[in-house]
Amino acid sequence: MATLEISTDVSPLAPQGVFCNEPFTDFSRSDVARSMRAALDAVSDQFGGEYDLIINGKRSRTEEKTISVNPANPSQVIGIHQSAGPQQAEEAMQAALAAFEIWKRVPVEERVSLLLRASDAIRKRKFEFCAWLTYEVGKNWAEADADVAETIDFLEFYAREALRLASATTPIQYPGERNQLFYIPLGVGAVIPPWNFPFAIMAGMTAAAIVTGNTVVLKPSTFAPTIAARFLDVLESVGLPPGVVNLCQGGPEFGRALTEHPKTRFIAFTGSKAVGLEIHERAARTQPGQIWIKRTILEMGGKDSILVESDCDIDRAVADVASSAFGFNGQKCSACSRVIVDESIYDIFLERLQERVSRIAVGNPVENFAAGPVASEPAFAKAMQYIEIGKTEGRLVNGGHAVETPEGGYYIAPTVFADVAPTARIAQEEIFGPVLAVIKSRSFDESLAIANNTEYGLTGSVFTASREKLERASHDFHVGNLYFNRKCTGAMVGAHPFGGFNMSGTDSKAGGPDYLLLFTQAKSVAEKL
Ligand code: NAD
Repeated sequence: MATLEISTDVSPLAPQGVFCNEPFTDFSRSDVARSMRAALDAVSDQFGGEYDLIINGKRSRTEEKTISVNPANPSQVIGIHQSAGPQQAEEAMQAALAAFEIWKRVPVEERVSLLLRASDAIRKRKFEFCAWLTYEVGKNWAEADADVAETIDFLEFYAREALRLASATTPIQYPGERNQLFYIPLGVGAVIPPWNFPFAIMAGMTAAAIVTGNTVVLKPSTFAPTIAARFLDVLESVGLPPGVVNLCQGGPEFGRALTEHPKTRFIAFTGSKAVGLEIHERAARTQPGQIWIKRTILEMGGKDSILVESDCDIDRAVADVASSAFGFNGQKCSACSRVIVDESIYDIFLERLQERVSRIAVGNPVENFAAGPVASEPAFAKAMQYIEIGKTEGRLVNGGHAVETPEGGYYIAPTVFADVAPTARIAQEEIFGPVLAVIKSRSFDESLAIANNTEYGLTGSVFTASREKLERASHDFHVGNLYFNRKCTGAMVGAHPFGGFNMSGTDSKAGGPDYLLLFTQAKSVAEKL
């Protein structure tokens, strides 16, 4: 029988203590800021490097390339990547299938140890990863740090969860029998992440798949390929056996080929509603030779609301709405894009929000400005189009224009529209940019009805001092992640299992106790004594 080469020059690790979230970095310390600047310099020396496909541990190149550029300076090439097609889909699938036969038998402790070694390696190189995120998608230092911290959290959390799952048993022992329950892996998965948390979501879905014994074809976003290549580098350096994760940079066509492949057992996807639904539909069509129903784990878009009630701390609400709406330029599925304000405080709230948003400094994320560029040319074009729509649907209060720089970065001024109707396009459609709609409401009932009137159901928040309203919201505000008197972004692994309702996806609850189940199937074994 073939064996996987599991590197022996790395010491096995076991989880140390209970899981706790990776602390955020304090960039206000001068020594820490110096380290970040040094990492930004070091990473800039590696711009323009070419990265290979990695199939069965072997490097290869394609004629067509995927070019990743700096959104703050699009003439700067961050990395040159390959562009896989149907031939590579087949090669990667065969490699993953062969590796699966061995990887599924590797003891869970060894798979867990791989994740912990990777987390250790990333923790030691935190600033370097922050720097790649700053250059490749335009994250400021704190946003980049949060992405890296979440990556570490996913690795640490799923490592412990895999051990817990491996020790599961049946709830009942039937008299006269020995009853066992095993959560066994599914097979080969296609992992298809977005560009907005290009490290955490990409690494999190991959880690969940492999720690449970599956093997993976990883197709990163074409807008964030370098960070994925760097992650593979880490996995290989800590002993990832060939074929367990096959890195294939490629576009939608490659994604389609993977989704449709008869040997694909599951698809772990995070991205837009349109692509999620397409994957769902393609995966449902049985292909010749396919002997299972493909499983889809689909986390999709959001149109997230914050309710601001008259009895709340208005300044706190203003600060948290601004940070939920404009953190990373609103390019979070959890971002607040609608704030629903009680009419009795509407004017004062709006006045303070306008003042708060006008102070958001726009500039190069390398210099750690609060608002950098949006992540790509298509993201810029889409947000600008919605800003034009907004001008016909609401009263422009902040922004409403691009911000030009000599480097031609994709900057947009943080934009707020007031007096927006709950059914307006900018109140219904996901913009995924720095655009906030303010909606007036006459009562808490009406606010809840407005909050629930989109096809999405991802995050939401309520600012109020009323326990009664909070109780009501906990039942009637239909979102997967609901927050009270705090921002609606910034879900923490373990504390806020993440995933949404309705067109926001299959509610997979990443970072929660049920997540790894999605990558397994349960097998019951009963023995007569
Ligand atoms: P996207 O749907 O455009 O792309 C996501 C991934 O799918 C990318 O890797 C892309 O290359 C790939 N892809 C594109 N077309 C495909 C196809 N036809 N078949 C297979 N794969 C295909 O999304 P994006 O712009 O990268 O990310 C932003 C979206 O992600 C937003 O809608 C956001 O709300 C959502 N998102 C959701 C969550 C969540 O947890 N619910 C988290 C982050 C982002």
